[in-house]
Amino acid sequence: MVENVNLKPTAKRYYRKKNDLFSLLMKMKLWPSRSGALHGLKSVEIRGERAELTTHCGHSFLITNSRRSRAARWLRNKFYTSPCRACRVPEWKIGKYGGTVFSRGHGAVLPGQADHSAVRGNQ
Ligand SMILES: [Zn+2]
Repeated sequence: MVENVNLKPTAKRYYRKKNDLFSLLMKMKLWPSRSGALHGLKSVEIRGERAELTTHCGHSFLITNSRRSRAARWLRNKFYTSPCRACRVPEWKIGKYGGTVFSRGHGAVLPGQADHSAVRGNQ
């Protein structure tokens, strides 16, 4: 184990529940898979209504941007069995995730958050 002097004790951070899935994924870089493993994301490439995710363990797949999807729910509820070993999600990241609270009342609205009234239209 390498000691990291910059590592602060896990402060709570708040994200608005209404943040869309893509913004959260880009920020957190974590993906709860159906099997219960928590993967680390190497990249999140947004293509309109979809995003291509690539995990550190080498899987890539397309997802749609839904706050009500299985993955969005699992991400908010921190529903996973264990971090993916192949992804080697660092300990601090898991800790940070554990300190994250998804709240309706307050918290960060992430940059790049799709404002559905403004972003729609020609591209
Ligand atoms: Zn993985």
